Amino acid sequence: MKIRCGLMPDVVVKEVERLSPQWFKSVGVRAVAFDVDGTLMNYHEHKVEPEITRYLESLRTAGLKLFIVSNAYFGRAKELEQLFGCFGATVLTPGGVYTGERFESKNLGSKPKPSMLREAAQLAKLKSGEKIAMVGDQMFKDVLSANKLDVAVSVLVARRGKGDFIGIKLLQRPLETLIRTFLPNVPSRWYDFPEEPTFI
Ligand SMILES: [Mg+2]
Repeated sequence: MKIRCGLMPDVVVKEVERLSPQWFKSVGVRAVAFDVDGTLMNYHEHKVEPEITRYLESLRTAGLKLFIVSNAYFGRAKELEQLFGCFGATVLTPGGVYTGERFESKNLGSKPKPSMLREAAQLAKLKSGEKIAMVGDQMFKDVLSANKLDVAVSVLVARRGKGDFIGIKLLQRPLETLIRTFLPNVPSRWYDFPEEPTFI
């Protein structure tokens, strides 16, 4: 069994669109959980770019189960359902789960706790050997939460867009960049990320 370091992603890639339905299936992934801010869109963007729309549609058409796993609260949480529910995605936030218009209140806790992703894996009804991928731009949240679950594959992407929550921008990003320089095979700057998904 592979020993996993909490911050080490299983896979790195420059942008989500490079994670094709065929690639997911080839590595046993049947469900995909996406972080939103910095992963599918710029921080707190209010509309989905056409290329992301096409991409999510391609995953859905290929039969992959889609989840949004975000630390969003309040109005932003509801907005994520409106933005991504149309792709058949179930939206998990620390306060509960949106399945279509239906909201089920739950105290799931925010990433890096694995509770939202664990809930997504249960909802996906994975069979033995099947995996759920957690795709995100932050090691301290997305990768760390995924690495706590045996059924998860952690995928680190370069940050999408330039926006950030101020605390993340000033403290966490510089620290992540610094730590990445010490982790073997983990790209430090966005231009170092590989064009194709790469296991490390
Ligand atoms: Mg993010």
